[in-house]
Amino acid sequence: MVLKHFRYLLLAAIFVASMPLSAQETYQEVKPGDENLVYQGQDFYPVRNYVEKPKGKRPKNVILMIGDGMGVDHVFAGITANGGKLFLDNFRHVGFSKTQSADKYITDSAAGGTALSTGVRTYNGAIAVDTQRKPLKTILESAVDKKLATGLVSTSAITHATPASFIAHQGSRSSYEAIAADFLKTDIDVFIGGGYKHFTDRHDGKDLTDELKEKGYQVLQDIGAIAQVKSGKLAGLTASEHNGRANERGDLLPVATETAITILNNNKKGFFLMVEGSMIDWGGHDNNTPYVVGEMLDFDRAIGKALDFASRDRETLVIVTADHETGGMSITDGNMYTGMVKGGFTTEDHTAVMVPVFAFGPGAAEFSGIMDNTDIHRKMSKLLLGK
Ligand code: MG
Ligand code: ZN
Repeated sequence: MVLKHFRYLLLAAIFVASMPLSAQETYQEVKPGDENLVYQGQDFYPVRNYVEKPKGKRPKNVILMIGDGMGVDHVFAGITANGGKLFLDNFRHVGFSKTQSADKYITDSAAGGTALSTGVRTYNGAIAVDTQRKPLKTILESAVDKKLATGLVSTSAITHATPASFIAHQGSRSSYEAIAADFLKTDIDVFIGGGYKHFTDRHDGKDLTDELKEKGYQVLQDIGAIAQVKSGKLAGLTASEHNGRANERGDLLPVATETAITILNNNKKGFFLMVEGSMIDWGGHDNNTPYVVGEMLDFDRAIGKALDFASRDRETLVIVTADHETGGMSITDGNMYTGMVKGGFTTEDHTAVMVPVFAFGPGAAEFSGIMDNTDIHRKMSKLLLGK
């Protein structure tokens, strides 16, 4: 007996003694030139478990969360960096989405966003218009028609391709000022992101924030002030163009997500909200693992806010997916105890590979298996709007 216990003690002692050693080995693994490939690990944040107990078969609210450029490896980099667990682990219904656009095997975010927002495949660069440049109705616009509340949240400029695909209709994603003007053609309740200059510093000399105020919007630039808003219409423009990286902007995305949900939930008919973790894509383009991880963990914390609401509300469908993968990322090393992750990349562009789809709440089971990106729109539209 004593001997047996001694053996366990010895094993425990060896395990404890080896911990700093493995951390040191991890450090030594970072060769010169590898700095952008290795995320060293930081303190983990706590992840709560949420139980899915949907009230009915159809949701009252839909929260669509798009990790721009988020492939399975970006997700697993995040899982490793947070010691083996993310809020994403709560999703029980998982599938894959094929992302090809109408004219290219490899999509961009405009065509990828338009497929999700309208259910139609179009050409790369198109913002909710078809291959003939004819406007396509978005799920956000259809939700407005049905008197549901609607919102958009992003870390990039709110006029950037992904959020723009849900509200604007332009032949080119780079028509930022025209995209900003399109925000005034809808009854969207809340939008929070960067892009202030596309509303104020314009070639037509207009200050669209004046028009927004006339339409009843509270126009705010400070995230602290934005977080205080509980009702009414809100235009939160937190940066001239894009917000800073995750380590610079702090908890802007989780706070903006929570704020948007609080405001939209005042509508008794329900709501549609799209939240984008915009810069996971940019970390991929940069072939930069710490950048990817920082954005992935930030996006996951925003997912946590959506789950926190959805698990209590029980009438909200949360869908998490991507428009495409970026970087051809792979995980070539890592450590679940320290959170160290080493990434490898095959391109500085997007890739063609399928991206994950995660669903939680009423109707979530519809989102398992392999589907087209346009199917995500079709399923979500049918569940929320009945068509
Ligand atoms: Mg985007
Ligand atoms: Zn990209």
